[in-house]
Amino acid sequence: MKPTTTATWRLVCTECGETYDEQAVRYVCPRCAQQQQPGGVTRGVLQVSWQPEALRAGWRRALGVPDRIGLERYRDLLPVGPSAPRIPLLVGDTPTLDVPRLRSRIGMPRLFVKDDTRNPSASYKDRASALVCMKAAEYGEKTIVAASTGNAATALSCVAASLGQRAVIFVPASAPPAKLVQMLCYGAEVVPVDGTYDQAFELSLEATRRFGWYNRNTAFNPFTVEGKKTSAFEIVLALGKVPDAVVVPVGDGVIISGVAKGFRDMIAAGAIDRMPRLIAVQAEGSASIARAVRSGADLEPTIDAHTVADSICVSAPRAGLLAVREIRASGGAGVIVSDEAILEAIGELARHAAVFAEPAGAAAHAGLLAALQQGLVTPKDDVVLLVTGHGLKDIASASKGVKIPSAIRPDAEALKERF
Ligand SMILES: *Cc1c(COP(=O)(O)O)cnc(C)c1O
Ligand SMILES: [Zn+2]
Repeated sequence: MKPTTTATWRLVCTECGETYDEQAVRYVCPRCAQQQQPGGVTRGVLQVSWQPEALRAGWRRALGVPDRIGLERYRDLLPVGPSAPRIPLLVGDTPTLDVPRLRSRIGMPRLFVKDDTRNPSASYKDRASALVCMKAAEYGEKTIVAASTGNAATALSCVAASLGQRAVIFVPASAPPAKLVQMLCYGAEVVPVDGTYDQAFELSLEATRRFGWYNRNTAFNPFTVEGKKTSAFEIVLALGKVPDAVVVPVGDGVIISGVAKGFRDMIAAGAIDRMPRLIAVQAEGSASIARAVRSGADLEPTIDAHTVADSICVSAPRAGLLAVREIRASGGAGVIVSDEAILEAIGELARHAAVFAEPAGAAAHAGLLAALQQGLVTPKDDVVLLVTGHGLKDIASASKGVKIPSAIRPDAEALKERF
């Protein structure tokens, strides 16, 4: 164990501000956790707080090793010790695409798509799972447990497979079959739960209490936000500057909090001098965070959250308090989109940017259109659309926007009839 006195980072409670050494606490702030309601937003979410000098050194190092792949380039900006393994996968390092046809279609010449469908398990969640699996190895933990709407568990299963770790997954039985099959193929032990994501979350906490398994849950394990900050680094390096706005599909609020953290860490490192506006996109039936940002009121959990975008379907957003604060501090906004708009966005993104997204990923595009209409972004802005999950994960939803043509006879006559 490394001596705490030389630590370049500590854990700080995002609610009460108390700081802890890594050795002192593993998940949430013990003081604030006393206010935890079962099934409620997570109280006392901890974040990694860095010494500015360490961030400056880490950023210099990242600039000096452009050939290091994936998250390894940012290793010195991640809270891992020297004993944490390298992930033998390309996590992160996803392209920030010019999207000429989408740009002209919607009249935004400075639009970019950050294509995070191109992660090993095909979603943004790989960034968090990679860091959590590195920490599990560093701590000597052999079993990692997670509750998930699908992608977090799939990502954990994937990265755990790459390192030979045991993954135990609690997932709503209603998760899209592709995600279930994917995690089973990676060799995870999957426990479908006859209930909601929120109930699966509670069950996984019980498993951690009972069996001591290392818990990856979003906004419960303090390293999920830290892993999810890495796309901000990649965006700034790809654009050579800070964009005006980043549009992020939001469920529990960890991705958007992570993106905020990435930009703030770069400011502390002296690499950039301002934040982009963070635009949170939520679905009508699961919009606690966007509602709170829009109304200025406190966060209220959604009763019976529902949306076609399963990855952003949550009643009590676990990192909701943090996300609302980060969005407000960035000068950003919340937008709310319908399921119809989300389904339509799948086809728009695929046809005009050639990026095939699952509903939650496509929600970013639906949200961008709403934000444009509401004047939250202007056509001149540099805007990055974060597309977070691949379309093949949920074919049932994607197929609502297309019609599979009837087959033809394999002869020239039939060809003539068709065209
Ligand atoms: C998890 C997820 C989100 C939302 O991330 P949160 O951290 O829960 O806000 C968005 N899109 C996809 C594809 C996801 O898997
Ligand atoms: Zn606290």
